[in-house]
Amino acid sequence: MSAVDDRNDSHSTPQRFGLLRQKEKGYYSVRVKAVAGNCTAPQLALIGELATRYGRGYISLTTRLNLEIPWVKIADVPVVCAALDEAGLSTGSTGRNVRAIVCCKGTVCPHGLYDTQETCRELDRIYYGKPLPAKFKIGIAGCPNNCTKAQFNDIGIMGQRVPQFEASNCTGCGACVVACKARALLLDEDGTLLFRQSLCLNCGTCIDRCPHNAVRLLAEGVTLFIGGTAGRRVMAGLPLGMRIPLSACPALVEAVLVVFLQYGEPGERFRSMMERVGPELVLSTIRDVVQEL
Ligand code: SF4
Ligand code: SF4
Ligand code: SF4
Repeated sequence: MSAVDDRNDSHSTPQRFGLLRQKEKGYYSVRVKAVAGNCTAPQLALIGELATRYGRGYISLTTRLNLEIPWVKIADVPVVCAALDEAGLSTGSTGRNVRAIVCCKGTVCPHGLYDTQETCRELDRIYYGKPLPAKFKIGIAGCPNNCTKAQFNDIGIMGQRVPQFEASNCTGCGACVVACKARALLLDEDGTLLFRQSLCLNCGTCIDRCPHNAVRLLAEGVTLFIGGTAGRRVMAGLPLGMRIPLSACPALVEAVLVVFLQYGEPGERFRSMMERVGPELVLSTIRDVVQEL
């Protein structure tokens, strides 16, 4: 049975397939997944055509980078879904599973420390739609500017570059002080550079700005935040507190999902599970995976 056939199965839940019942009887909003927030221009044109023909001529953008065609009559849902399938698009990102993964435009953003959209596509290929005790959200930020608010996802991923200062090379020119938006750098009255590490966000900007090779790259990679949530409950995820290579992301996501499948109760969000079983169980499991990398 194809995905479209499934949608017509009266025993299935339409919402599971990205078909959201509206307040108005007989109408659905069809949620179209845009992997990594991208659609090709022809795909976007098709969605527009479908919205004009079967909806009311407009498209809604969701907070997780999906597109919805509202006002589709229930009888028209199969033809809309078939047209989307044919264009390589799918409906979904609903239900108790890994939802559409959100990433920023770090791929092209001047601040991006890694290819966020490719990371998103890779995680989407492996984990999107994986059944879990409750919905599960992953957010990817290319740098500590954190446009995707990584901490407020079940797993947040953020690129970081850690600076190391070489006092012997520093001339006190102040270029890094001007560049540091976190105000982690100061020059004292003598022109000596002061590094307030507790304020440093590990964005790495000072590394690029120093003209005297006095700021070196100590470490780079991504860091994770685990168990964040936003919505009815707003809780920041716990920082993993270490950087890992980008290539290790799938293994760490896998480790978190295995814990969720093992300990989560039906309908229980990951954050609630963490609070019930103790966050250290989750964090220690992840750190064990990191040690084995
Ligand atoms: S989080 Fe950083 S890399 Fe991503 S869009 Fe924002 S500024 Fe750019
Ligand atoms: S890494 Fe970023 S936040 Fe940290 S000192 Fe350098 S510029 Fe400031
Ligand atoms: S930019 Fe380099 S040389 Fe200038 S104050 Fe900063 S660390 Fe020192």
